[in-house]
Amino acid sequence: MADAYDLVVVGGGPAGYTGAIRAAQLGMTVACVEKDGPLGGTCLNVGCIPSKALLDSSEHYHYVRQGIGVHGVRVGDVGLDLGAMMARKEKIVGGLTSGIAGLFKKHAITRLTGTGKLVAPDRVAVGEQVALAKRVLLCTGSEPTPLPALPFDGERVLSSTEALALARVPQRLVVVGAGAVGLELGSVWRRLGAEVTVVEFLPVIVPWADGTIGRALKRALEKQGIVFRMETTATGAERTADGLRLTVEAKGAAETLEADVALVAVGRRPFAGGSGARELGVAFDAKGRITVNDRFETSVPGVYAVGDVIAGPMLAHKAEEEAIAAVEGMAGHPVHVNYDVIPNVVYTAPELASVGLSEEACKEKGLAVRTGTFPFQANARARCLDATEGSVKVIADATSDRVLGVHILGPRASDLIAEAALAMEFGASSEDIARTCHAHPTLPEALKEAALGVAKRSLNI
Ligand code: FAD
Repeated sequence: MADAYDLVVVGGGPAGYTGAIRAAQLGMTVACVEKDGPLGGTCLNVGCIPSKALLDSSEHYHYVRQGIGVHGVRVGDVGLDLGAMMARKEKIVGGLTSGIAGLFKKHAITRLTGTGKLVAPDRVAVGEQVALAKRVLLCTGSEPTPLPALPFDGERVLSSTEALALARVPQRLVVVGAGAVGLELGSVWRRLGAEVTVVEFLPVIVPWADGTIGRALKRALEKQGIVFRMETTATGAERTADGLRLTVEAKGAAETLEADVALVAVGRRPFAGGSGARELGVAFDAKGRITVNDRFETSVPGVYAVGDVIAGPMLAHKAEEEAIAAVEGMAGHPVHVNYDVIPNVVYTAPELASVGLSEEACKEKGLAVRTGTFPFQANARARCLDATEGSVKVIADATSDRVLGVHILGPRASDLIAEAALAMEFGASSEDIARTCHAHPTLPEALKEAALGVAKRSLNI
C-alpha cells in the first residue's frame, strides 16, 4: 500500500521546504522529496548561505588587514586560516540545514530521500516507493548554466559550487560573468589575495540594476583591485601545467588570459531533470521553465510549480513567497505575490540592493519620475563606521509621488532595503518616507534624506 498525502513536494530548497511547512500549518499531510542529502536546496547548501558566510569572513580578514587602522586599532601580523574559514562556513550550513530537518519533525512532514518522479498527476515515485498525492508541488530549482566554450570540469573550470570550496587561494582567478554570483565570489577570493579578472560580455555589470548605482559599484570594485574586461567574450580554455589559458575576444580581437582557475558564473537555468514533468505533459516555455498560471498551476491539473524552475528572478525569497501563495491557494486562500516589490541584493562591499524599477526601466515604460539621491559620505553613522562609499537613490512617480524604486549602494544595503520594500508594499510616497522619524545617527537616515531629495529638500547636503 502506497502512503497517501494531501501534498507531495518535490525538492527541498527554499521553495520546497517553505511550501511543505506552510501546507502542514494549514492542516495538510505533507511529504517532501529531496534527492541531494541535506534539506535547504541550492540556497542553504551551495548558494546564499555558504557564499555569505565566506563574504563575511573574508570581509573581516580584509578589514583587519587594511581598514581597522583608521579606528586607531593596531594589530600585529594577520594570518589567514582558510581551512578554519571553510569549516565555519560548513558549520553554519550544517546548523541551518539540520534546523529545517527539525522543523519538518515539528510539523510532522515526511521526508522522502531520493529523486521524486511524477508517474501520474497524483503519484510520485521515489525509487521503489510510490507516494499518492492529492496535489504535487514541483520545486526542482535550477542549476549553473554551462558555457559551451568553457565546459565545467570541477577542477579548473568551476561553477559556483566548487568556487565556494577551494582548498587554497588561487593566485589568478578569472570570473566569467559580472552578475551577483560572479561579483560576490570574485570579491571573496580578491579579499583573500587572488588577482581577479572579471570577463563580461555586456558593457555593464549587474545589468538589471539602476545604471548610476551599477556603475558606482564597478568603480568601487576596481578600487579593490578587481579588473574588468567589458564587452569581452570567453571563447575557450586550454589546460596548462599549472592552470588554464583562456582565450577571450573583444571587438573582434582575440587575446589570452592566464589563470589558475576560472569561475563560470553566467547565470542559472531551470532544472526539472528526472522529475517526470515533461513525460507527464507538463508544459515548459522556450527557456525550459515550467509554465504556470497565476495560481501556480501547471498545465496538468493537480500539479503546481514554484521557485527557480518557473519564470521570474532566481532568488530564494521569491521562491518562498511563491511557495506560500501556491499552498495557501490550494487551501482556498487568496493567491498573490507582488512581483513589483522583490528586493535584489549583491553582497559585495559596498553592497548593492534595489527594489522596484530602475530609472532606465521607468524611462522605457514612459513613466515621468522625480529622483532623490543622498551620498553616505554625508551620513553621520557611515562616517563613524568609515564606510562612506555609495549612495541611496529614490525614484518616485512625478505626479503621484508614489515610490517606484529604491537603489542603494553602501554599507548594509541588504538590511536597509527592507524599509524601502515595506514602504513600497504599502504604496508609500517619497513624502511618507521623508516624514517618518528615523533614529539618529543611523544608516537608514540616508534613505530618509534621499526621499527628501525627491522634493529637493535634503537637509544634510
Ligand atoms: P533550489 O534551491 O535549487 O532547490 C531545488 C531542490 O530540489 C534541490 O535541493 C534539488 O536537489 C532538489 N531536486 C531537484 N529535482 C528533484 C527531484 N526530481 N527529486 C527530488 N529532489 C529534487 N538567492 C537569494 O535570494 N539571495 C542570495 O544571496 C543568493 N545567493 C546565491 C549564491 C549562489 C552561489 C547561488 C548559486 C545562488 C544564490 N541564490 C541567492 C539563488 C538561490 O539559491 C535560489 O534562488 C534558490 O535556492 C531557489 O530555490 P528553489 O527551492 O526554487 O530551488
